[in-house]
Amino acid sequence: MIRNYIHGKVSSFSTETLDIFDPAKGEKINKVVNSNKLDFENVLKSSKEAMQSWSNTTPLNRSRILSKYKNLIEKNIENLAKLISLEHGKTIEDAKGSIIRGLEVVEFAIGIPHLLKGEFSQNVGANIDSWSMRKPLGICAGITPFNFPAMVPMWMFPISIACGNCFILKPSEKNPSCAIRLAELFTDAGLPDGVLNVINGDKNTVNNILECKEINSISFVGSTPVAKYIYQKSSSYGKRVQALGGAKNHLVVMPDADLNSAVDGIIGAAYGSAGERCMAVSVAVAVGNIGDNLISKLHQKAESLKVAPFNDESSDMGPVISNEHKNKIENYIETGIKEGANLILDGRNIKIQGYENGYFLGPSLFDNVNTEMTIYKEEIFGPVLCVVRVNSYEEAVQIINKHKFGNGTSIYTRSGETAHDFSHNIKVGMVGVNVPIPVPMAFHSFGGWKESLFGDHAMHGIEGVRFYTKLKTITSRWPKSIKPGVELKMPTN
Ligand code: NAD
Repeated sequence: MIRNYIHGKVSSFSTETLDIFDPAKGEKINKVVNSNKLDFENVLKSSKEAMQSWSNTTPLNRSRILSKYKNLIEKNIENLAKLISLEHGKTIEDAKGSIIRGLEVVEFAIGIPHLLKGEFSQNVGANIDSWSMRKPLGICAGITPFNFPAMVPMWMFPISIACGNCFILKPSEKNPSCAIRLAELFTDAGLPDGVLNVINGDKNTVNNILECKEINSISFVGSTPVAKYIYQKSSSYGKRVQALGGAKNHLVVMPDADLNSAVDGIIGAAYGSAGERCMAVSVAVAVGNIGDNLISKLHQKAESLKVAPFNDESSDMGPVISNEHKNKIENYIETGIKEGANLILDGRNIKIQGYENGYFLGPSLFDNVNTEMTIYKEEIFGPVLCVVRVNSYEEAVQIINKHKFGNGTSIYTRSGETAHDFSHNIKVGMVGVNVPIPVPMAFHSFGGWKESLFGDHAMHGIEGVRFYTKLKTITSRWPKSIKPGVELKMPTN
């Protein structure tokens, strides 16, 4: 059974558990504790104990622990990737790639002595100086989704901890093993007990976190309905909150694009990780007369993808996370057909020998999707790609700007003018030009617009440092000092 990681030890009080499945086999493989109030109080006590001393540890010493942590993650990357693949189902390559993305945030956080430097103004008035500093918030918490069990928590805790905070992580109950291992490795790197705690459980644990007055901030990544709830509830408890939600990422293919490169990009971004990525491309927008050609090339490539469990090294995509999610995706496909979209490739009913009960779906491809259809409006979060045909670039921009989600988008074009216009005028938080997935690097910040992010700060990069610190500004004048018993002598001229 997977328990909690509290004050440097694996422990839990609750006897209630939640099942963990191997999505490739559809079999129960483990259980995770569904923490109760006592577990939560234990976590809080540990974080409070660690806080004072950790916030007083110098940024340079915090940075040195992060450097050791980086080395340990690199040494353990194979095992961490296996833990992810077993509980999530994604290929080992995908799992490793996601850990490396998380590692880059650790690398960024190693620069914390530089990142925490404030600003200084001399002589803002006669002999008056003014400067600013960034102080830790206190205890921070993170609630994370199933699709990136290492990377998304690592968007949060390395920066929060580098800033001098203690961090409580509540990973997804579907694949919690990697989070525990990440915390153990941090302890091995020299992180004091209690600075990073992991508590497992479902929404009751989340509510304990949200309602706790001693927790100062909430970082959330997950679906939009839950993100909205987290944002509203956390704010009502006076917490700082960043809540990243769902997505419907459009990729625009202009008539002047390098079509083969666009198709390769779309295939990887739509079907990689079985479409369970918040930056997955779920809508390809074919502009002008390229629709038929685009569909034919996408069809051919999608058909040739190999759907197989992660232990098959030639696998292009694994299963989706659960049977429930598989049924939900199949229902979306059915709805797409009923609403009049053309199903060019049907990924349902795929059977893999030896894995008959696994939650596998092949790639599905819809043509002639319109903006009124459910499969266009809602996030499917599976290997289903919708192609929308439009007459002009302006029409493409208009539909993207009208969509309720604004996480990521991309354009393939050879025109600098179009690329420039798109980058500036599209109402989406992360934009790509001739790249399929515009994922910002760790030293920039990750976050969408509209219903893809609730709160003021995106994750990691300088936004992360701002989120996990509060600003203090000091205005200071030093008059001539008078020592006790010594008469102050003033200058004579
Ligand atoms: P989810 O919203 O179901 O769960 C996320 C977390 O919230 C989990 O830890 C879960 O235990 C908790 N939770 C679930 N229901 C809750 C409730 N009613 N009350 C309180 N807490 C609750 O998301 P998921 O299915 O794990 O992940 C997939 C979703 O995450 C997709 O919508 C995807 O787009 C999104 N996502 C977004 C980003 C981004 O950067 N915007 C990144 C990754 C994933």
